[in-house]
Amino acid sequence: MTIDTRLWSDKAKSLTPYVPGEQPKHDNLVKLNTNENPFPPSPKAAAAMQAVLADEAAALRLYPEPESDHLRDALADYYGLSRDEVFVGNGSDEVLALVFACFFKKTRPLLMPDISYSFYPVYADTFGVDAQTVPLNDSFGIDVDDYDKPCDAIILANPNAPTGKLLPLDDIRTLATRHPDAIVVIDEAYIDYADDVKAASAIALIREFDNIVVTQTFSKSRALAGLRVGMAFANPSLIAALMAMKNSFNSYPLDRVAQAGAAASVADREYFERRRTEVIELRHQLTADLVALGFDVLPSAANFVFATIAGQDAADIAAKLRSEGVIVRHFKQARIKDYLRISVGTAEQNARLIEVLKQIL
Ligand SMILES: *Cc1c(COP(=O)(O)O)cnc(C)c1O
Repeated sequence: MTIDTRLWSDKAKSLTPYVPGEQPKHDNLVKLNTNENPFPPSPKAAAAMQAVLADEAAALRLYPEPESDHLRDALADYYGLSRDEVFVGNGSDEVLALVFACFFKKTRPLLMPDISYSFYPVYADTFGVDAQTVPLNDSFGIDVDDYDKPCDAIILANPNAPTGKLLPLDDIRTLATRHPDAIVVIDEAYIDYADDVKAASAIALIREFDNIVVTQTFSKSRALAGLRVGMAFANPSLIAALMAMKNSFNSYPLDRVAQAGAAASVADREYFERRRTEVIELRHQLTADLVALGFDVLPSAANFVFATIAGQDAADIAAKLRSEGVIVRHFKQARIKDYLRISVGTAEQNARLIEVLKQIL
């Protein structure tokens, strides 16, 4: 069907939307392409969501809490913060959109790495923000000195996607110190997979710096990608701006089921810790297995690895894996076209990947 854009706004006509990784319809595939958790969410989250539906007095007839107070309290309790330092939204993608709308003032540019989460340039376009890329260094790391130029904002994924590399907290401190009038956004979608998450997360800096916003998500480490819950942590003045923006766009971004499920997930610390550790161990094993096959694997602090193998075409390997029922992610961008991003699966899934790779190579 040809789309008739006659009635579209100029803005709608100009958009180049983000393309998410494939979500195949049949499920006998080993799906290692979008960094979902290979394990299910906390059973307590599932029970809390069922209880919402079973509650005859309220159920879904009534609107949810507009500010998700119970969920924000659960997160505040977990991170040792107060409720007014916590914001939640419909996935961290929505939280990031509100961050773009709230803080990127458009007088000076937004700086971001050339290799990073590919939604950032899409949002820049949507919100009319002048985004300038700063190249990663030759080992795909971030050199904070490269950000020594005028800007209104800096956005980084940490660990970075798709490289998996972690930027030390001291470097984030340096960025925030050198750019006191700019917002520094740290997208911590994968931070729970850092070996020492407490030492890695910039949540520790939000009381020290009034210009740091940290975003996180329930989609990866909490295995709730289908529920769509994300959050931001910052000082109360920045959170108030996000609230104002949310309430000028959608007053109820999180439904009752999502609020209850997410809060129960946060409360179940034991389950979270066990699964998080399991994925980290599986990542170390997967890395060792890939190295044994001749791959170079970047040091990862995420639930995926970024790997390349000399003398082989990564796009070709991805296509061959696909035909054997194993999906991984390949990016066409020139600098990373020789790499594959492989999500950490269960032990069985990872073993299948390695077995098929052995045949292909
Ligand atoms: C997955 C991901 C997100 C989006 O998470 P949602 O909460 O599912 O919207 C944000 N940033 C990065 C770097 C991600 O990989």
